[in-house]
Amino acid sequence: MATRMVIGAKTSYHFRLMMKKIISCKSFEMISTYPLNGPLYHVDQIPAEFHESFILSGYRHPKSTFLQCVFSVFYRTNETGNFWTHFLPSCYFIYVICEKLSEDDYSLPFLAYLLACILFSLASSMAHMFFVLSDYARHICFFIDYGGLSLFSIGSAIAYRAYVFPEVLERTWFGYWYLPMAIFGALASTFFSCLSRFKKDCHTQQLLRIVAFSLPYLFDNLPVMVWLALCDFKQCLQSKFYHITQFMFCFIAAFLYMSHLPERLQPGRFDIWGHSHQIFHVCGILGTISQMKAIEIDMDLQKANIIKPCYYMYFHYSVEIMCAVLILNIIIIFIFSCMLKIEMKKKND
Ligand SMILES: [Zn+2]
Repeated sequence: MATRMVIGAKTSYHFRLMMKKIISCKSFEMISTYPLNGPLYHVDQIPAEFHESFILSGYRHPKSTFLQCVFSVFYRTNETGNFWTHFLPSCYFIYVICEKLSEDDYSLPFLAYLLACILFSLASSMAHMFFVLSDYARHICFFIDYGGLSLFSIGSAIAYRAYVFPEVLERTWFGYWYLPMAIFGALASTFFSCLSRFKKDCHTQQLLRIVAFSLPYLFDNLPVMVWLALCDFKQCLQSKFYHITQFMFCFIAAFLYMSHLPERLQPGRFDIWGHSHQIFHVCGILGTISQMKAIEIDMDLQKANIIKPCYYMYFHYSVEIMCAVLILNIIIIFIFSCMLKIEMKKKND
């Protein structure tokens, strides 16, 4: 009996050893056939905090390596489209800014605006590429993404103040405080959107982010609305078309962001291409290009009127204002990153 038990134990040991070898060979084969970004996962296989609403497949590993993140943008994952829809436009904005660099002081606010366009689209594409490095990296990447949007809001305000500001508002308190209030709004938007990531409730998170981005957007666009209502119809017909197109694209982008359409209707059907976040990016970029065209047209229209000394202050310091907001945003993000680290450490202890 005892001998039989020893033989049995030995057999089961050899069987386990043989199975282990087979499994490890199988794993090796599987790994060698995986693309350079590593295997992709179904929504049930990854932690809940990495889930995207109504997206069922194409997830990367939540602890990918740096190189896997870089290679992943060349494979069909559910983030590939999100990366390219902001990375390619950032290259286009770099090309535009290079063309405008040699121009005079008058175009400085436009350069500041283009710098904001580059930074926001680049920050977003990098965030989408690297947020699967770790849970901590996921938060930091989205802090940076929010910072980019805040920079874009101040870049727009600088350009509007310089080229799209109605004469009737020029010497009013609004004219005087427009830019300082826009700076405050941009910084408050970074602060509250970063703060939203500390909220447990999903609805509070989304509400905080919507308020943090929509209020500065509406405030920054106030002079444009007055400008469109008061400007000479024949003179501003072309820029009016681009300004209205910009509003239309932003409205569609906000609707898609909140509704999660079309994937809400057919979960799993739009996992790789065509989900709401990609269309949200495309609409955002089309809106930005329309806004850029409108500003360029208004810039040429206004050039003859720019003899007013109050304008010069904004013209000369527009790039500096952008850089100051960039530094303040980095400080806000740094503080939130430290707070996050402390909170995660507390959770793990
Ligand atoms: Zn995005």
